[in-house]
Amino acid sequence: AVLVGRRVQNRRKWRRAVEVLREFEEGCATSIGRLGQVVDAMAVEMHAGLASDGGSKLKMLLTFIDNLPDGNAKGTYYALDLGGTNFRVLRVRLGGKGSMIISHQVEYHPIPQELMSGTSEDLFDYIAMTLKQFVERADDGSEQKADEKKELGFTFSFPVRQMSVSSGILVKWTKGFSVEDAVGKDIAQCLEEAMTKAGLNMQVAALVNDIVGTLALCHYYDKDTVAAVIIGTGTNACYVERTDAIIKCQGLLKNSGGTVVNMEWGNFWSSHLPRTSYDIALDDESPNSNDQGFEKMISGMYLGEITRRVLYRMAQESDIFGDGAYNLSIRFILRTPSMAAMHEDDSPDLREVRRILTETLQVPHVSLRARRLIVRVCDIVTRRAARLAAAGIVGILKKIGRDGSGVASGRAKGTPRRTVVAIEGALYVNYSMFREYLNEAVVEILGEEAAQNVVLRVSEDGSGIGAALLAAAHSSNR
Ligand code: BGC
Ligand code: MG
Repeated sequence: AVLVGRRVQNRRKWRRAVEVLREFEEGCATSIGRLGQVVDAMAVEMHAGLASDGGSKLKMLLTFIDNLPDGNAKGTYYALDLGGTNFRVLRVRLGGKGSMIISHQVEYHPIPQELMSGTSEDLFDYIAMTLKQFVERADDGSEQKADEKKELGFTFSFPVRQMSVSSGILVKWTKGFSVEDAVGKDIAQCLEEAMTKAGLNMQVAALVNDIVGTLALCHYYDKDTVAAVIIGTGTNACYVERTDAIIKCQGLLKNSGGTVVNMEWGNFWSSHLPRTSYDIALDDESPNSNDQGFEKMISGMYLGEITRRVLYRMAQESDIFGDGAYNLSIRFILRTPSMAAMHEDDSPDLREVRRILTETLQVPHVSLRARRLIVRVCDIVTRRAARLAAAGIVGILKKIGRDGSGVASGRAKGTPRRTVVAIEGALYVNYSMFREYLNEAVVEILGEEAAQNVVLRVSEDGSGIGAALLAAAHSSNR
């Protein structure tokens, strides 16, 4: 009788874990109808953000980039890419006259954790010193003299209100950075001061968001590129907008046909987004609550954490993970790459899932049945993220009349135009389930026919090399 009783109890507990999963799955539903609403909301918010400052949670920031670089610049340019867990320094040699990039060197440097929440002076001093050492090492003496003034494309992957192509004020931090005294400062100036202090003869020729670098590089190779999307640690999108559609700056912009707008779509919000109690709790406990709502459902910084929260709830409400599950209570312990590895484990006994459970979460001896449940949680989290990102992309295409509906474009329906969207970021590039879900959803939303004209093109390293191209295009040595 005791044994039977225990079995009944176990079954009940198991059932509770499955219920938690079901509830979560329902909360994350992204039917095609729901995605259509997100598409429309994105297009509407884009209009609102262009109409007035503060008109939308989408900031729709000006970049002052009116011409994307062609292949005609020549010389050696540097780039610095700050924005995720690493920062990168690059040196790019350009051949001029339509020739392509001759060569580029890249170095990765981790950002010491304490600098991510210290003072701006410490952060920029560290970056300037690292850059200086790179310049000294990379200097081959051939074409650029050591004392010559060097030019830099500074990729700074946070929301910046630009005053010009080479200056701009930090609006706020995202992705776990919180160097509070830098908010409101001119970021290019902060870096230039640190470079001077370090004895580095270099100036910021272009201050660009990573998303703009991505667009620039892809456009350099493929002139049909009209928009770019990054889905990495954080997420963002930009696109080429008609100058006269930017109502909030009428008269301020030179009347050149188009200009690049940095949407800062990580901050997009709509009541149509499928949000669960786990998302709400994650947001509440984040240093930037009520901000970056779309980013928190989509990007690499958060997917592992959402998954952990669901697993933790299961552990609390059932005993399918046994007693050792307390490690699941540690925030951000499950990083997105580990989550992806569990999701993509195709061994019949889910060996990789077991390894990560044991090594990372310190929950050994989880049954195969329970491991399958974990894979399903990963799948729900990733599928929702990828499909929402797809809806966002189609929202942009809709706004610029490239979604095949033929309305905003003023063209007759059935005149297809090839449309390229550059994509960068580890989630899309390295996580094949994510990529498949996203690609699939774009076709599902646009329809097979319209989707034939839309190309999602991976633009690896765009945020760094693209910035060097932009530095060359806006160089004072030109
Ligand atoms: C930032 C954007 C950036 C994106 C991708 C977001 O958190 O707000 O400026 O482009 O991350 O790095
Ligand atoms: Mg990056």
